[in-house]
Amino acid sequence: MTDFSAGAAWVILLAASALCVTALALQHRYLREKHREPSSETWFKAREKKERGDFRRRFKRRVAINFHEDEFELECGHRYPATDKEPRPEYDCRECLDAWVKAEVRAGR
Ligand SMILES: [Zn+2]
Repeated sequence: MTDFSAGAAWVILLAASALCVTALALQHRYLREKHREPSSETWFKAREKKERGDFRRRFKRRVAINFHEDEFELECGHRYPATDKEPRPEYDCRECLDAWVKAEVRAGR
């Protein structure tokens, strides 16, 4: 009986340690990815893509966010501050650009 309890205690201790190590490893990876900066090449490529119009999205509808201000919803679902009185047919979507840059960073570029 004593042997069994000691064995069970060891199993629990090992399982708990394994869990801690896994949690630490995951946290480490998460923090590393979060703080990794995009490379110079990534920014150059992002600029090129923007010039080509890769982040240009069609205006979909105007959305009032409060009594005074509107936002323009774009076809991608992201919103653009309504700086123009009349919406232009297309806008460069900053959030789509950011998403692309983040994906590049995640891919290690
Ligand atoms: Zn977008």
